[in-house]
Amino acid sequence: SAMLSQTAIAPLELMLRQVFGYQSFRLGQREVMDQILSGQDCLVVMPTGGGKSLCYQLPALLMPGLTIVVSPLISLMKDQVDSLLQSGVNAAYLNSSLPREQQLQILRQLHERELQLLYISPERLLQPTFLERLQHLSVSMFAIDEAHCISQWGHDFRPEYAQLGILKQSFPHIPVMALTATADQTTRLDICQRLQIHPYELLSSFDRPNIRYTVAEKLNAANQLRQFITTQQGASGIVYCSSRRRVDEVAERLRQQGFSAEAYHAGMTQEARSSVQERFLKDQLDIVVATVAFGMGINKSNVRYVVHYDLPKSIESYYQETGRAGRDGLEAEALLLFEPADIGRVRHLIDQGSPGPQQDVELHKLNTMAAFAEAQTCRRQVLLHYFGETADKPCGNCDICLDPPKRYNGTEDAQKVLSCVYRLKQRFGINHVIEVLRGASVAAVVERGHDKLSTWGIGKDKSHEHWLSVIRQLIHLGLINQDITRGSCLTLNDAARPVLKGNVALMLAEPRLTIPVTRRRHGH
Ligand code: ADP
Ligand code: ZN
Repeated sequence: SAMLSQTAIAPLELMLRQVFGYQSFRLGQREVMDQILSGQDCLVVMPTGGGKSLCYQLPALLMPGLTIVVSPLISLMKDQVDSLLQSGVNAAYLNSSLPREQQLQILRQLHERELQLLYISPERLLQPTFLERLQHLSVSMFAIDEAHCISQWGHDFRPEYAQLGILKQSFPHIPVMALTATADQTTRLDICQRLQIHPYELLSSFDRPNIRYTVAEKLNAANQLRQFITTQQGASGIVYCSSRRRVDEVAERLRQQGFSAEAYHAGMTQEARSSVQERFLKDQLDIVVATVAFGMGINKSNVRYVVHYDLPKSIESYYQETGRAGRDGLEAEALLLFEPADIGRVRHLIDQGSPGPQQDVELHKLNTMAAFAEAQTCRRQVLLHYFGETADKPCGNCDICLDPPKRYNGTEDAQKVLSCVYRLKQRFGINHVIEVLRGASVAAVVERGHDKLSTWGIGKDKSHEHWLSVIRQLIHLGLINQDITRGSCLTLNDAARPVLKGNVALMLAEPRLTIPVTRRRHGH
C-alpha cells in the first residue's frame, strides 16, 4: 500500500517541481487538487497572492481533457497564458478583443484537442454556439476565477457572471472550481447557490500578523496625519481619501509640510498617474495620496503603512487596501482615522443612488464597516471574524490590544456639556458649544453675549479635541441629539436629565488624543 500511495502522490509533486519549479505546496493547495481530481466541486478562498491559480493549473495537466478558465479581465488572461506557455503548457485565451483570424486558430486547436487550458471571458463562453461546441469536446473542469463577480454581495458584481449557473445544468458531471479572495460568508453562500455547487471549501487564513491595525478617532485630521507620518521616518506609505478633491488637498498639505508626497486619482492624465506609480515603485517618492483607484495590481513589497483618511465603504475594501502594506512580511501599520459623522455622510451618498438590492447591500456593508470602527475589541479578531475565521485570543498587535481603552467617571464632563447646551437654548452646534465651554472670545461668541453665560469657560482646562470626543460619546449614548434639520444644533434628550441632576454617574471612554503608534524595531 506504501507503493500505491507513492504512485498516487508522485504526479502532483513531480509536476509541481518540473513544470512550475516550486518545491512544496502551500497550505491547502494539495487538498484542493486531490478533491478536484476526484471529481468534487471546490470553492477556494485565499487572499490575493495566496496562490489560487496553481490550484487548477496543476490538476488541469493531469486531467485527460480541457480545462476551461473563466476570467473577467483580459489583461490577466494574457499574463497567465504567457507564463503557462513559458512553462511549456498548451494554453490559450479567447475573448472578443482578439482578431477573428486568431479566434478561428484557437477554435481549430480546440478541436484538434491540442489545448490543456483555455482562458475565456464569461460572455464568450456563454454564447450558445460555443457551449454547443463544448458538448462535443472532452472538458475536464471549469475553473471560475474571481468568482465573487457572480454575487451582488461581492464588491465587483458583473451581470455576465450571473449566467454561469447554467454550466452545472449543461455539464452536470464536470467539476467546477470557484476561486475568490472575497471571503465573507454571505458572498460565499451566494457563489455556491448561483453556481449550483455543494463544494469542498478551502478557506485559507486572512490574517496578516505583521500589520498593526489602529483606529483613531478623527479629531484634527491634518495634525494627526502629520504626527503619524513623522514617526514613519521617510518610509513608503499610502494615504487613502474618499474624493479627488480631498486627495489633492492632503497631498498639497503634506508637500508644504516637507514630505515627499504626490496625488493619484482617476482625474489625472494617464501620464501623470504612471509617473507617480513608477516613482513610488522605485522608492523615489515616499507617499502616494490616492483614491481607491490606486493599488490594483501594484506589487510593491515595502509599503510600511496605509492610512485611511476617510471611512472605507466596506470591510473588504479596508482589508484589500490595508493589505497593500507589509507584503515583505516586515512590520507595517494600518491607520484608520474615524469620524462618526463619516457614516452619515456615506449613508447619504448611498441613499441618493437608486433603491434596490444593490443599495441594501451597500448599506449593510457600511454598517459593518462602522461597527468595526466603533468596536472596542481586538481589531484583528473583528476582521477575521468577518471573514469567517475565529481567532480565540486577542492579537497583541492592534491599538485595542496595545493600548486598551480606559474609562473614567465622566459625570462632571457630561454635566458641563449638557448645561452648556441648555444655556445655549439648544440652538447651537458642536463647535460653538466647545468654543463657549473653553471660554473663547471669538466674534461668534461675544456678539451673542455667550461670554456672559455661566457656562462660558468652565471647560477651559481641557482641549478642543477632548470636548469633541466627549460630545460624540454623549450623542452616541443618546443623551444629546444632533438635529440635522436645524443646522446640526445640539439638543437635550430625556436621558440627559438624571445626569444633569447628578442622580447617576456616567462612565465615558477616556478621549485618546494621540495615536498610539510604537516605533518600529527594525529600520527600513
Ligand atoms: P492569487 O491568484 O491567489 O492572487 P497567484 O496564483 O497569482 O495568487 O499566486 C501568487 C504567487 O505565488 C505567484 O507568484 C505564484 O507563482 C506563487 N505560488 C503559488 N503557489 C506556490 C507554491 N506552492 N510555491 C511557491 N510559490 C507559489
Ligand atoms: Zn488585537
